[in-house]
Amino acid sequence: LSGETADWRSLAHRTQFDGIHILKGRRAIRVDVAGRTVDAQLSETKLTTLSYDKLLLGTGAIPVWPAIHGVDVPGVFVLHTIGDSFAVREYLDAVNPRRAVIIGGGYIGLEMADALTRRGVEVTIASRTPTVLPTVDTEFGALVAEELKRNGVKVSTSVDAHAISLTQNTLRVFGSNDFELDCELVLLAVGVRPNTRLGLEAGLKVGAQGAFLTNRRMESGAPDVYVAGDCAETWHRLLKRHMYLPLGTTSHKQGRIAGENTMGGSSEFAGSLGTQVMKLFDLVIARTGLRHDEAAREAFQPFTVESVMNDHKAYYPGATQLRACVTGDRDTGKLLGAQLLGAWGAEVSKRLDVLATALYHGMGVAELSDLDLSYTPPLSSPWDPVQMAAQAWSAKLGTQAGLPARDFIKGR
Ligand SMILES: Cc1cc2nc3c(=O)[nH]c(=O)nc-3n(C[C@H](O)[C@H](O)[C@H](O)COP(=O)(O)OP(=O)(O)OC[C@H]3O[C@@H](n4cnc5c(N)ncnc54)[C@H](O)[C@@H]3O)c2cc1C
Repeated sequence: LSGETADWRSLAHRTQFDGIHILKGRRAIRVDVAGRTVDAQLSETKLTTLSYDKLLLGTGAIPVWPAIHGVDVPGVFVLHTIGDSFAVREYLDAVNPRRAVIIGGGYIGLEMADALTRRGVEVTIASRTPTVLPTVDTEFGALVAEELKRNGVKVSTSVDAHAISLTQNTLRVFGSNDFELDCELVLLAVGVRPNTRLGLEAGLKVGAQGAFLTNRRMESGAPDVYVAGDCAETWHRLLKRHMYLPLGTTSHKQGRIAGENTMGGSSEFAGSLGTQVMKLFDLVIARTGLRHDEAAREAFQPFTVESVMNDHKAYYPGATQLRACVTGDRDTGKLLGAQLLGAWGAEVSKRLDVLATALYHGMGVAELSDLDLSYTPPLSSPWDPVQMAAQAWSAKLGTQAGLPARDFIKGR
């Protein structure tokens, strides 16, 4: 939608499906678990029945349409499928909106703010939460809001949008805290919920957040029926329980496990750590594992240290500041989670992936210093920023016990 990728066709993850027979244009409408059949609709009147030995349900998620009066007026969109993006693009081309309001300050809302700004649209984000990007710490969320403002996006937080009206060609969005704004385009980006109707009608069970229950083999509990992706729960590797954490990375892995097992394998999903990253204008923000508050709720003893350092040696041109927030357990010294924020080009996501890998292997924070990480002045320091952040954590914990759990190490 920003125009950065010229041809939408190149967005496809893959175009070759060797050995897989894809039946296009069929909507599964009924699953008979006892009879091992799926009824699929070819058209309004035409049905076909497919029989199976093993069935995998990967019906994904559906975007939440919030209970806002007037969401059905023209000019209001959600963004979930490629089809949704075509509808938005056609509207952008036809109406050429000057102003847009995005309801929701999560990663999709923020990415859309970036995309629409690049097209010259004036964007306002209305977010229900006190800071945007509530998946990261509020301090990081505030820095994200600064990046938005620096690029001309207006940010209204703690706003609960409750109505949209259309007068002639102008939409007006109303929300709490006297929010009232005119625009020509409204995007709703307030999250997704699992798409489970098909499975529920077939007798599959769902958990507290409405996603299919599953074990780590991605078995649903119904005979020979597997589930994977945004419609299913996810095993959290650190918390050792299932929860709903819909992500493309997780879906790919769960799909592979389920696929192997339908073919007679015995693979187990290793678990998610909620690792995610987003790019917003010139900023990259990433997280893995648990935030301080999440760890505290889970009966860990979290200790969190935030530090700022250069992404590479300051004497080599182009160095930028990288902000790291490391949470570890006071009692065990184990890494619990981390967040990184820095410039695009500061290798934020790959550095975060070092922390995600450490977390996967249950490493202690101090052990990060033992990792043999690469160094050359244009790219890092002899101690990589990830290791400096870990050392800051250990130093604060070791020498200054009794400090408040959150502290700040000056840039070096
Ligand atoms: C705008 C956007 C940006 C995203 N960016 C990222 C990102 O950067 N990183 C990341 O990790 N994740 C990202 N995600 C999330 C990621 O896209 C999803 O987690 C992932 O696509 C889920 O895969 P899935 O196969 O479970 O579901 P989907 O990809 O939604 O696929 C489900 C499929 O099932 C089909 N289907 C549903 N019901 C039926 C039926 N009854 N009969 C036949 N077919 C049916 C649907 O048409 C769809 O094709 C993003 C999502 C969006 C919307």
